Amino acid sequence: MSAHTQRPVECPCGGAAPGQKSEKSGAKPPRYADCCGRFIDGDALPATALELMRSRYTAYVLGDVPYLRATWAAETCPADLDVDPNEPGAPRWLGLAVKRHESIDETHAIVEFVARHKSGGRAYRLHESSRFTRGDDGRWRYVDGDILEG
Ligand SMILES: [Zn+2]
Repeated sequence: MSAHTQRPVECPCGGAAPGQKSEKSGAKPPRYADCCGRFIDGDALPATALELMRSRYTAYVLGDVPYLRATWAAETCPADLDVDPNEPGAPRWLGLAVKRHESIDETHAIVEFVARHKSGGRAYRLHESSRFTRGDDGRWRYVDGDILEG
């Protein structure tokens, strides 16, 4: 196992869930170790596509490429994946809000979210509806997503 440097105390995903009043609610974010850290640094498996989605957001924040690859469907995982947060010009992720978590069936789900980030001094919102599938191994994986306006 690699050394896990720079792991935060509070989870970057903020425990985002549908119906939650974003980060303005003043609710205390969950601890990283109790939230996405269980999946990224531990052996726990996300039980839902929502948990997986949150942990992938957190992996982007941390620049954890191995985790992103491990949770990406083989058919759609890009050969080139560079998410080093320390690189000049890399987006700085500011927060996550989950709009919708829809279970289609046992092995398919959709999560719609807004991830805010700052890139090159400008603030952006990534609003995406993502598709997830669950493999025979019981693991949820990200397939692809549609970028939504607004
Ligand atoms: Zn989390």
